[in-house]
Amino acid sequence: MQLIYEKSVSGRRGVMLPVSDVPAAADLPQNLLRSETAALPELSELDMVRHFTNLSRRNFSVDTNFYPLGSCTMKYNAKVLENAANLFAPLHPLTAFLPGGAELCQGALGMLYDLGQMLADITGMDEVTTQPLAGAHGEMTGMLLVAAYHKAKGNKKKYVVVPDSSHGTNPASAAMVGYEIITIPTAPYGDMDLELFKQAMNGEVAAVMMTCPNTLGLFNPYIKEIADIAHSHDALMYYDGANLNAIMGKVRPGDVGFDVVHVNLHKTFGTPHGGGGPGSGPVGVKKSLIPFLPMPRIIHDEVSGKLQIQTDNPLSIGRTANFFGNFGVMVKAYTYMIMLGREGLIQVSEQAVLNANYMKEKLKGYFDLPYSQTCMHEVVFSASKQLAQGVHAIDIAKFLIDKGYHPPTVYFPLIVKEAIMIEPTETESKATMDAFIGVMIEAARQAEADPDSFAAMPVTMPVTRLDETRAARSQTVCCLG
Ligand SMILES: *Cc1c(COP(=O)(O)O)cnc(C)c1O
Repeated sequence: MQLIYEKSVSGRRGVMLPVSDVPAAADLPQNLLRSETAALPELSELDMVRHFTNLSRRNFSVDTNFYPLGSCTMKYNAKVLENAANLFAPLHPLTAFLPGGAELCQGALGMLYDLGQMLADITGMDEVTTQPLAGAHGEMTGMLLVAAYHKAKGNKKKYVVVPDSSHGTNPASAAMVGYEIITIPTAPYGDMDLELFKQAMNGEVAAVMMTCPNTLGLFNPYIKEIADIAHSHDALMYYDGANLNAIMGKVRPGDVGFDVVHVNLHKTFGTPHGGGGPGSGPVGVKKSLIPFLPMPRIIHDEVSGKLQIQTDNPLSIGRTANFFGNFGVMVKAYTYMIMLGREGLIQVSEQAVLNANYMKEKLKGYFDLPYSQTCMHEVVFSASKQLAQGVHAIDIAKFLIDKGYHPPTVYFPLIVKEAIMIEPTETESKATMDAFIGVMIEAARQAEADPDSFAAMPVTMPVTRLDETRAARSQTVCCLG
């Protein structure tokens, strides 16, 4: 497919503008004037509509096919949530910050306030900031809060502890805030090795960052003990709640010892994602960390019964985003929660876990399952059996592309060789899952019978097998195929 610039024909136009009645270059400073015409593509409206419509048809999405990408929760996001977000479009974000402005948007502030309360309730935290714009941004915000907490107490802290199964953003976020990372290996039972953790803990540890269920899809049975040990060293417990799909209404991180939590609204709570945004990674904290939360904060004024905005607080880590964060994403999350209600959210988690275990049971005879216990919202297989025939996880992924499926996450978590991480989510029907299971079994059989056939896959796509190294280094060339 040609780039839009390659379709450009000199002089072709999509719109006819009337002759300008504004004096040319009226009063603009000379250095701001363009000396050459901008090199924009010149096309008719229809050329352009066809270009972008054809491009969009190459997109893979949950709205077109099954997308079992582990650690990403590619659930269906109901269209009614977009309608709800649009209702707020006329409200200018500055409104709340003008003198007397908070009075004018009590509805929007109330929505944000209630969303924070609902998230606090689900996670067992005392207050939530909605500012962070993504999960990783939430992690960094959380780590800034941890650092502010220790600074205020005069604690000298240097390290953040993470298990080796952690999402890469965890150590990265801690390092961005200036901490050194201590990585604890995973024990054969599939969780951070408790003995090695005990040995590593010391008074200089600022926080322990954990994902629970972890990236193997397993819930750590020693979580309370780990939290008690961390707290005995005045280290805080950080919960990576990017994927809350397994635990809603079942376990509250705050009840098992966590002090800071981030949640990805764009994974669990109704916002489509995968194309780069907009996301939202609210952070919840226990009481001891409230003084350090980012400004602005929404406060309920007992006397007037109104919501007010606090913009100033000497202990606050400051702003981490404009206004209150990605507002539209919050409207969607709020609507999602109100629509489902308490019972509905519990059902989401139960169904997500059931679906992942269904995948596990149906496929374990065909793919190696390094950790075989009951899983939570996702299950991690290994293509090690297939590797004996020379077929890698990436080859299985390409096979699935040819069959119309988005591949599961491969090669993550890093601790599983040839990892294939499947997260079906609660929104898929048994029929869809059975069809996918059938194709996975077909892949396993073909790996036995004809391993060489995988080398050319995918054959149904505009772009065939990529040279992965070249694709990473020279994106333009590879995208053109
Ligand atoms: C997705 C994810 C993140 C990062 O979230 P982003 O919104 O992509 O920054 C962090 N941790 C885990 C476990 C995740 O799955």
